[in-house]
Amino acid sequence: MKLFNLLTVYPEFFESFKNYGLIKKGLDRNLIAMNIIDIRNFTSDKHKRVDFRPIGGGPGMIIQYEPVRDALNQINQTKVILLSPQGKPLKQSKLIQLSTENNITFVCGRYEGVDERIIENLIDEEISIGDYVLSGGEMPASIIVEGITRLIPGVAENIESIENDSFNNNLLDYPHYTKPNKIDGLAVPDILLSGNHQEISRWRRKQSLGMTYLKRPDLLKNVNLSKEDDRLLQEFIAEHKVNKSD
Ligand code: SAM
Repeated sequence: MKLFNLLTVYPEFFESFKNYGLIKKGLDRNLIAMNIIDIRNFTSDKHKRVDFRPIGGGPGMIIQYEPVRDALNQINQTKVILLSPQGKPLKQSKLIQLSTENNITFVCGRYEGVDERIIENLIDEEISIGDYVLSGGEMPASIIVEGITRLIPGVAENIESIENDSFNNNLLDYPHYTKPNKIDGLAVPDILLSGNHQEISRWRRKQSLGMTYLKRPDLLKNVNLSKEDDRLLQEFIAEHKVNKSD
């Protein structure tokens, strides 16, 4: 079982998160466990405050070192991650790497952030979910927990669909269709109705390469394209040009 410890000043935040979709499945099947830790339980302040004004002045409040340290001391040896806009931007490869850990602790910041000494002394790494600023680390932590959980065998029903997901092998996913075959003048590509699985796989690989070329060309730099991939991509580009001028 994989254990996620979540240090937060808003433990209620995670209640609805635990009750839906893959997270609920993972919890019900005992494949994951969540230990939600209220940082306020580790302060001696009579009002349960864990934030204080910044030394040197300035706006906002800062989460203090001591309650975070004491909360972490209650947890067994684990990898400790601080959610922070200053961290390394989250990538699928990071989720895959973290999915091999059995025990991960997330420290959710709030207010103006956390005392710098927490970063220096108490955590292993900082992770950002993107170049923008939210008001707390609870949503970023949920995103990482969800991203890891769906990679755990036995949580997702269909592991093959996860293997085809965008960013696995640095390619975006191919387009998907479901019934009806035609709607509002838009038809499902004939090849998908052909029943020829080899041709369908070839088409899907071509679309995957093509979608990456169109939407995220930066990713292609990290892909070792085979000769067949090159051919498929050239075909896609040629077809795309024809379609664009239609
Ligand atoms: N003053 C901080 C800064 O500019 O780096 C921002 C603090 S933010 C308002 C409060 C907390 O939200 C952070 O400590 C962090 O835990 C979380 N947070 C905000 N944006 C985030 C992001 N893009 N990725 C991960 N965590 C984020």
